[in-house]
Amino acid sequence: MAKEFDSVRSMIEALKPSYPVYCLRPDIINQAAGRFLEQFPGRVLYAVKCNPHPDVLRALHKGGIRHFDTASLPEIAQVRESFPDAACYFMHPVKGRAVIGTAAKVYEIDTYIVDHPSELNKILQELGGAEGLTIYVRLKTPPVDGAFYHLASKFGADVDDAAAMLRDAASRGCRVGLAFHVGSQCLVPGAYGEALKIVGDVLEKAKVDIVGLDVGGGFPAEYLGTNMPPFEDFIREIEEGVKKLKLRRDCVLMCEPGRALVAHAISVVTQVQLRKDDQLYINDGVYGSLSETVDAGVKLPARAHRLNGALTGAPKDFILNGPTCDSLDVLPSTFSLPSDIDEGDWIEIDRVGAYSSALATRFNGFTPETLVVVHDQAIGSVR
Ligand SMILES: *Cc1c(COP(=O)(O)O)cnc(C)c1O
Repeated sequence: MAKEFDSVRSMIEALKPSYPVYCLRPDIINQAAGRFLEQFPGRVLYAVKCNPHPDVLRALHKGGIRHFDTASLPEIAQVRESFPDAACYFMHPVKGRAVIGTAAKVYEIDTYIVDHPSELNKILQELGGAEGLTIYVRLKTPPVDGAFYHLASKFGADVDDAAAMLRDAASRGCRVGLAFHVGSQCLVPGAYGEALKIVGDVLEKAKVDIVGLDVGGGFPAEYLGTNMPPFEDFIREIEEGVKKLKLRRDCVLMCEPGRALVAHAISVVTQVQLRKDDQLYINDGVYGSLSETVDAGVKLPARAHRLNGALTGAPKDFILNGPTCDSLDVLPSTFSLPSDIDEGDWIEIDRVGAYSSALATRFNGFTPETLVVVHDQAIGSVR
């Protein structure tokens, strides 16, 4: 269990950390989980890869999340061993043979995804048949302008292949479903409607009943300058798209959010190690928690803390350098901070709950490892 503090400030007073410290606000996870569970008209799976920290999973579980999108044995083991009442779904379209066997025999996983006939054959061979098995077929969806990452270039079957796999899996005795993922940080609600039209095309061709429809993740988080559509627009788009499909009443609708459940819930407190003019050298960076500032152009809100005395300077733009010796380890956007910030002060960088620690490397010996729980307000609205 993580140490708890009233506030980021009291954490800094207690630890005076010279290493980066993640500050988890479980209340924010609780709110985000509540919003999904209330408004999404189906089952809500958390995509574990987004942030698998045990305290993050615990907060989600406490917030009512009982279903988990898992993609590897370690993820499955972690969820199943932490929460006996949680269900895991093996949602990686490419799995090792031994991994499939272990998932089924040790962890009793009965739901798998495929996007190629060879993977379906592999699963049925390894498990010795289709009894009790639910197979989801992952669809390719068109690229969305306004999504950070487009995963359909790596995974997903087109309409004809998906329809053939559905028919094949159903004829071999599997229960079958369809799934897609529009891409992370999708700012276009219509992308879900477009994908659901493709689901309609597949169902028309395949003429089999599906027991589940998984609309994936991709729901956005609000960063600096993000033009956020209301959450309700995503829900409405999904509801309207699903209604047109005329699914069986017992077909389960599912979503797999990662980012939208956790991004706002964690900040990272970094320390200034050196100031050179308008350049600050801090102890976290592109190879640590902050790779999405480069890979996805994410702009993060920040505020400064000083223990002895106050920071009184007017806001000024600073370039933040990460701790490794690589010249690429510089954050691409400037941060507005008090002009008198200096060595030894701390910078709390917010909205790093998603794809931060999960992507951190050990490059140069720097890796953020400490997480604490805090109960103060996060940095306010960032519009
Ligand atoms: C990564 C991933 C998710 C989670 O995506 P977010 O953008 O974090 O919501 C959901 N489903 C699949 C298949 C994924 O690969």
